[in-house]
Amino acid sequence: MWTSFMLFATIILVLLWLFQYVLLEAYYETMKCRDLERAAEKIENNIDSPNFQHVVRGLALKNSLTIVVTDWGCNVMCYENTLGSYSIFENDIKNNFNRYLYSLKNRLNDSQKSSISIKPKVNGNDDIQRIIHVTSEKDDNGKLYYIFIESSVEPIDATASIIKEQLTFITIILFELALIITMFLSGRITRPLTKLTQSAEKFAKGDYDVRFDGNGYAEVKQLSDVLNTAGEEISKVTSLRHDLIANVSHDLRTPLTIIKSYAEMIRDLSGDNPKKREEHLGVIIDEADRLSGLVNSILELSKLENSERVLTPEKFSLHEKMEQVLSRYTLLNENEGYNITFEKQEDVTCYCDIAAIEQVLYNLINNAINYCGEDKAVIIRQLNKGDSVRIEIIDHGEGINEKLLPQIFDRYYRAPKAKRDVIGTGLGLSIVKTILHQHGFPFGVSSVVGEGSVFWFEMTPTDNNQNSK
Ligand code: ADP
Repeated sequence: MWTSFMLFATIILVLLWLFQYVLLEAYYETMKCRDLERAAEKIENNIDSPNFQHVVRGLALKNSLTIVVTDWGCNVMCYENTLGSYSIFENDIKNNFNRYLYSLKNRLNDSQKSSISIKPKVNGNDDIQRIIHVTSEKDDNGKLYYIFIESSVEPIDATASIIKEQLTFITIILFELALIITMFLSGRITRPLTKLTQSAEKFAKGDYDVRFDGNGYAEVKQLSDVLNTAGEEISKVTSLRHDLIANVSHDLRTPLTIIKSYAEMIRDLSGDNPKKREEHLGVIIDEADRLSGLVNSILELSKLENSERVLTPEKFSLHEKMEQVLSRYTLLNENEGYNITFEKQEDVTCYCDIAAIEQVLYNLINNAINYCGEDKAVIIRQLNKGDSVRIEIIDHGEGINEKLLPQIFDRYYRAPKAKRDVIGTGLGLSIVKTILHQHGFPFGVSSVVGEGSVFWFEMTPTDNNQNSK
C-alpha cells in the first residue's frame, strides 16, 4: 500500500515538475507564436478593408506588438510600433534602410512557406528576447504583401524560480502527507487484513476456536464478522459430525450386538424350540429394520442435499394420502395403546412430490410418537387457510426448551437428553426441513416444556399454473 501510494504521489509530482517547470518556457513560446499567427490572420482578413490601419493599430496596442506591413519590394505600407526604441525594426525603418525587412523576407522565401516564426539572437546588452513572425500573402488584386510582427518574450526565469520553490515545498508536503496517510490507512486496512489472514491460517489448520478480529473500516469489520459466522458454522458442523459418528456408531453397535447375541441364542439354545426361536428371530428382524432405517435416513439426506433427488410434483387428495399414512400406524394404535388421530376439515387437492411429503409426515409423526407424553396421544390436525392448507402434528410430551428450538432442524442435532430408547440420528427433522425448503413450503415448531410440541407446515393445495393448463 505504501509503495502504491508513493508511486502515485511521485507520478503526480513528476507531471507537475514537467509541465510547470521543465516545459514552461517552451510552452510560453508556443503560446506567443500562436498569438502572433492569429494577429497575422486578422491583418490578412482586413488587408483590403478601409479600416485596415485602425485594425493594425488596435492589434499592436492590445498585444504590445510592432507590426509592419510592406509590399513585395519591402516598401512600408503600414507601421505600428508599441515597443518603441526596443523594436528591431525601429532603426531600420526610420532610416529607410529596410535591410532587416529584406533579410526576413528572404528567409521566408527560402523556407518556401507562407509564414515563419523567428527568434532573433540577442545583440549586446539587450537581453530582451523577441519573436518575429513573417507572413506573405496576396491581396484581392493579386499583389504580394508581407506582414512582419515583432513581440517581446518576457523572461520567465523569475516566474520559473518561484514555481520551482513552490514545487519543492509541494513535493516535501506531498511525500509527508502520503507517508502519514499510508500509515493511517495501513492501521485501518492492512493491519486488520494481516490479522485476518493469520487467523485464517490457524483456522485452515483446524483451530476452530480462533476469532477473526478485523477492527478497521466497515468492510473489513463486515468481512471478519462473516468469517466469524462461517467459522462458527463450520465448527458447529464439525462437532455435530463428531457427535453423529459417535451416535451412529453407538446406535449401530446396539442393534448389531442384539442381533449377534440372539443369533447365538438360536444357534445354541432355542434352535429346537420353535416358539422361542420365532421370538428371537422376531427380535433379530426388528433390529435389522432399525438398522436399515438408520442407514436409509443417512442416504436420504445425503441425496437430498446433493440435489440428486429431483422433485416430481403431482396432484393428490390430502384425505386419501393421510388415510394411507395413518393406516401404517393402526398396529401401534391397537397393540401399544397409542392414540393417533386425524382432525380433518374439508378435503383439498395438494400439488407436490407425494413421496417427499409422505416422508415429512412419517418423520414428524414418528417423532411425535417417540417423544409423546403419558397419554400416548398424537393429533394430526388439518387447517384450511384460504389458498393453503396447514398440517399440525401435536403431542403432549416433554416439549422442547425454547433455547434449543432454533437448532432442532439442524443436521445431526439431537437434544442433549434425547430419549435413550429412541433410535435417532438427528437427521429426521433435517430431512423434513430440506424437503419443505425444496417445495418452498413454510414450516415451524412451537413447544412448551412439560406440555408438548406442535410441528407444522403449510402446503399450497394446487399449483396455479397447473390449474390453468
Ligand atoms: P432424532 O433422530 O433424534 O429424532 P430429529 O431430527 O427427528 O432426530 O429430531 C431432532 C431432535 O429434536 C430430537 O433429538 C429431539 O430432541 C427433538 N424433537 C423432535 N421432535 C420432537 C417432539 N415431537 N417432541 C420433543 N422433542 C422433539
